Amino acid sequence: MSEFIKINEINISSDHYIAGQRVAAKHYLDVFSPIDGRLLGKVANGSPEIINQAIEAAEQAFPAWSALSAAERKVYLDKFADEIGKRNDDFALVESNDAGVLLSRMQHGVVKRVQLNIRHFAEQALTLQDHTINTNQAEHLVRHDPAGVVVIITPWNAPLMLSTWKLGPALASGNTCILKPPEWAPCTSSLLADAAQAAGLPPGVLNIVQGNGAESGSGLVADPRVARISFTGSVPTAKLIAQSAAQNLVPCSLELGGKSPFIVLAGADIDNAAATAALMYRNAGQVCLAGTRLLVHESIKSDFVKAMRGYVEALTVGDPRDPATEVGPIIHQRQVERVAGFIERAKSAGATVLWGGAKHEYGELYFQPTLVTNLKQDDEIVQNEVFGPVLTLQTFSSDDQVIAMANGTDYGLGGVCYGEQSHATEISKRIRTGFIWVNSFGIRDLEAPFGGIKRSGIGREGGNWSFEFFCDIKDVVVPKKPFRASFSQR
Ligand code: NAD
Repeated sequence: MSEFIKINEINISSDHYIAGQRVAAKHYLDVFSPIDGRLLGKVANGSPEIINQAIEAAEQAFPAWSALSAAERKVYLDKFADEIGKRNDDFALVESNDAGVLLSRMQHGVVKRVQLNIRHFAEQALTLQDHTINTNQAEHLVRHDPAGVVVIITPWNAPLMLSTWKLGPALASGNTCILKPPEWAPCTSSLLADAAQAAGLPPGVLNIVQGNGAESGSGLVADPRVARISFTGSVPTAKLIAQSAAQNLVPCSLELGGKSPFIVLAGADIDNAAATAALMYRNAGQVCLAGTRLLVHESIKSDFVKAMRGYVEALTVGDPRDPATEVGPIIHQRQVERVAGFIERAKSAGATVLWGGAKHEYGELYFQPTLVTNLKQDDEIVQNEVFGPVLTLQTFSSDDQVIAMANGTDYGLGGVCYGEQSHATEISKRIRTGFIWVNSFGIRDLEAPFGGIKRSGIGREGGNWSFEFFCDIKDVVVPKKPFRASFSQR
């Protein structure tokens, strides 16, 4: 029997979405709201039969969808984006209840960006087949052919944004997709299915298999009919996915965690840097690209800490639906315990908590913005991703030292560097990460590459990098002179 989740007056199907139809499951999982821990309802879990059904649907839809021109696909995808836009406030409210993210941010920014994720790549795909290489001998028509059935797996901290950032280029370049949303925040993906249906996206082009990683996720990535796997999530899960992908030699794109440095050089605008550092508590620190390791020049440490304390004390922790709230809840009790465990172990090892360090009085799933100092480079809390509102603070005295500290973890996602502009730029060039912001934070563009190195991932998303991943690059070689086979040919 089909199930629904109701958030305010919004009905959200709990079922899978396969070949344009809602498909009920044998088993459902409970879904809770991080706002107050209340049970929102149930979401379908996958099974081998469901996975098979979804892959068959995507396979069947592939020939017709991939045969359309990019311009024809754009018509569908623009309608898909329009349908998302029509329900801007529903998407915002549902994701806020389901994932605990700030409602105002969703309403005024994220859902608009989600539409752009679809529109931008639909537009950019128009230019995909343009590339030719002319030599004396031949014309090389370099094609981006769609790879086939794509599996997309996303985490709970920004499910709507991250799934559409992958769906946009995958669909625009002619692939058919199966999205496996996070089991802790599955609801907006169900609304995406409604939008796809309302837009008349052909059945099987976008399928959604709900459920947990162990059943739905692992079954999808192990199937040899899958041509690409695009994953955003944690390092341990990425290793399992890469093992499955290796069995079938399927390319996988892995966007993983971070432990990014936030460098404040002696010449920095201290107040500006401190205001940006306080922003790292956004989404209760559940942001992969946050600069969570503050590396501050020893000469400005006390001024920086004083300025940052002012910004942190002014933060409002609370219900993410309240427009005044700046820091919302942590997704799940298990994550709260994980965050608290990091702090306890750090204290036992001799660290000092400068502020925060415990649950916030607002509720069970709320945690105080926290700063931990008195640390060594090999301490667990310096080396491992906490994924909560917890930053570390270390000081340095020279450029070489801060570069070694910044590069001294297994991660390499992003970074932030505040300082006199040319100095900060030179330092940034020496930091081993996929991206780094100089005297700024969070500036992103759909054309720009995004992704990490080392344990932060493999591959790049954004602009042409997305298309390179989701497509098979093929060279159609057309000779300029009549060709005659000969064994003496060089
Ligand atoms: P996770 O790895 O536990 O889960 C991510 C997704 O993988 C979920 O949908 C889950 O159901 C699925 N999954 C779990 N086990 C699986 C398996 N064996 N096979 C296939 N799928 C499986 O991660 P999470 O806790 O949901 O998300 C937090 C992590 O995501 C953090 O490490 C964070 O840094 C990272 N993240 C990275 C980026 C980025 O762009 N680099 C963005 C957001 C989050």
